[in-house]
Amino acid sequence: MTNRLILCVLLVIISPWLLAKELILLHTNDFHGHIQQEGKYAGAAKIAAFVKEIKAQHPAVLLLDAGDAISGTPVSSMFEGEPIFDVMNAMGYDVGLIGNHEFDHGYKKIERFRAIANHPLLTANALGPDGALLGDAPYLLRNLDGIRVGIIGLITETAPTLFSPTGNEGLTFLNPADRLSELVPMLRPKTDVLILLSHIGHEAELVLAEQFQDLDLIIGGHSHTLVQHPVRVGKTLVAQANHYGSHLGLIKIKVPDAGQGPLDIQGDLIAANELPDGDPATQALVSSYEAKVEDQVDIKIAVIRKNYSKIALQPILEDILAEAIGADLGYYNRTGIRDVLSEGDVTARMIWNLEPFGNTLVKLTLSGADLLILLSQEPTLHHAANAIDPERRYQLATNSFIASHATLAFGDAITAVDTGILVRDILIQQIKAKGLQ
Ligand SMILES: [Zn+2]
Repeated sequence: MTNRLILCVLLVIISPWLLAKELILLHTNDFHGHIQQEGKYAGAAKIAAFVKEIKAQHPAVLLLDAGDAISGTPVSSMFEGEPIFDVMNAMGYDVGLIGNHEFDHGYKKIERFRAIANHPLLTANALGPDGALLGDAPYLLRNLDGIRVGIIGLITETAPTLFSPTGNEGLTFLNPADRLSELVPMLRPKTDVLILLSHIGHEAELVLAEQFQDLDLIIGGHSHTLVQHPVRVGKTLVAQANHYGSHLGLIKIKVPDAGQGPLDIQGDLIAANELPDGDPATQALVSSYEAKVEDQVDIKIAVIRKNYSKIALQPILEDILAEAIGADLGYYNRTGIRDVLSEGDVTARMIWNLEPFGNTLVKLTLSGADLLILLSQEPTLHHAANAIDPERRYQLATNSFIASHATLAFGDAITAVDTGILVRDILIQQIKAKGLQ
């Protein structure tokens, strides 16, 4: 073969790559109000700085969030999630998603989030009492540098078990696979890159990837899973960027100019300490919000001599609740414990991060049999379960989230008395008075 022939053959092989355009996706999920840099969490300003850099260098970049942007820090809780969407505007989000925690202040609040956010909040399967979708749109179609991008938004069908029923009456959550069966065939011919932005959880997202091979990519959330490189399921990749802004996902998709589907998808997670210094404008906005809460939360309340995991904290928090109202025992659901405590100073802010929801303390009176059903919702056997007599009646101290779900499930078989006192305030008072034991 002559050199010229070899060159021609090589060009034929690599020409789709030479002609390829590149779409860059940056993604977060389960940010949970962590706009301020703190420990492993990057904070909004560092993420914003990186996003600005990439957007300045490339013509086709999207910043996506896969839901649960709010609830997790005092600044989110005190202002009912609103500052988070304002800060997300400064970060330059192009598209967001309604997660289960976006219902923490009642579904009507989502309208307010939509009004604040400059980016659309997607949902293709969460419906209000009137039967209308609760987001800005079920999907988004964008053309970036000639690349036709489709993004479908879906939330877990189990959402109603994850937020308080109060303020969230009459909602419907459609089956994600059913919605994809309708939307994927409709959107595939119109798109070069078809993405599912999902708040369903990594395991379930892997199953959806297997079922819907016409999706190029699933950008996931909800399970707070650290997926360092997107997992390949057949032709579909599944990504997720841990939680709380500890990482920013970066995905590069090479798309042939002819628009015959993506050639190559590569993804990685960038850890907080690998991100550049914070964007000053974003940091100024974050600081202005944080200044409104600092006086109330950056107060030392105790010192602890070891680390406490969520599993270790559960019985301690339960005892505090039980003691506060003289109940037989306490129940604090482990998924409601939103942070761990580390050796050293404990501040009120740390208790806010642990209990961001503003739940109140409720005394439930119920049979041992019903109590056992309640405790069986835990991911592992509850430490008190073996000692419970199904025949006896118990007074249980718990939070209003558990109490409202128990009332729905058991009806008149139980009585619930809401003290109206915030669980967070009780925890802060007790830990301040007695430390953690
Ligand atoms: Zn979630």
